[in-house]
Amino acid sequence: MSGVILITGASRGIGAAAARIAAREGYAVCLNAARSLADARKVADEIVRGGGKAIAVQADVSRRDEVDSLFATVDRELGTLDALINNAAIVGPERKLTEVDADLLRRIFTTNVDSVFFCTAAATRRMSTRHGGKGGAIVNISSAAARMGGVVGWAAYAASKGAVDAFVMNAAKDLGPQGIRICGLRPGMTRTEMLAEIGGDARIQAGISTVSLGRAAEPEEIAEAAVFLASPKASYIHGTTIDVTGGR
Ligand code: NAD
Repeated sequence: MSGVILITGASRGIGAAAARIAAREGYAVCLNAARSLADARKVADEIVRGGGKAIAVQADVSRRDEVDSLFATVDRELGTLDALINNAAIVGPERKLTEVDADLLRRIFTTNVDSVFFCTAAATRRMSTRHGGKGGAIVNISSAAARMGGVVGWAAYAASKGAVDAFVMNAAKDLGPQGIRICGLRPGMTRTEMLAEIGGDARIQAGISTVSLGRAAEPEEIAEAAVFLASPKASYIHGTTIDVTGGR
């Protein structure tokens, strides 16, 4: 076994792909899901049938109490946490800048940013060498939108991912001396249900001329990079966010 990894928002898309890849690499995997526990269970069952170890745990990671019980379940059922991938996020509905209201902002930021704070803190309490832990690695899934601004109509999403990138740089200074490596990954256009929510193939066509490789990513291509960054193979990648965008 390579250790224990927790992946948030792993019922589908990049998170589910990362869970399968991490299991293949020998990790015991906790797949977190907010509402779609049945889908996360299907992936976990598939891993177990293939000889791996996996559990699916329901928790809304934008809520600190649910994050605390998610991590307690990992402690109890899988043991000491080695790696965390903060993957869960929402893109939200299309909204003109003049029509973004407080409710929408709160929903996007609690899901995409508060969750990263809560999960990173819970992981730190377990991994920090200052608290008797053995260190670990944290990967935050950001977005090319943080660097390029994203699509008009989704400003709150782009801004939330900018916050995630800044968080990585700050947390790295704090966590490096505690034996915890933290970095980020900015996916480009990736064929998942999230991309479908903002227009799918039409959105890909609209943006494809800016992608040097001339195509969108499959979720597995992003997930491979995320699992690599969470692993000891990435032992000197810290405090930075890496683009996986096909060249944008
Ligand atoms: P997706 O919508 O398919 O998956 C996101 C997952 O997060 C879902 O399983 C969802 O249920 C879960 N989730 C949402 N809110 C949650 C909460 N409060 N608690 C727990 N789980 C929650 O999206 P995806 O494309 O697989 O996205 C994965 C990550 O990649 C996200 O951080 C996203 O912002 C990022 N990303 C995606 C793209 C893309 O083109 N697909 C591009 C850039 C960045």
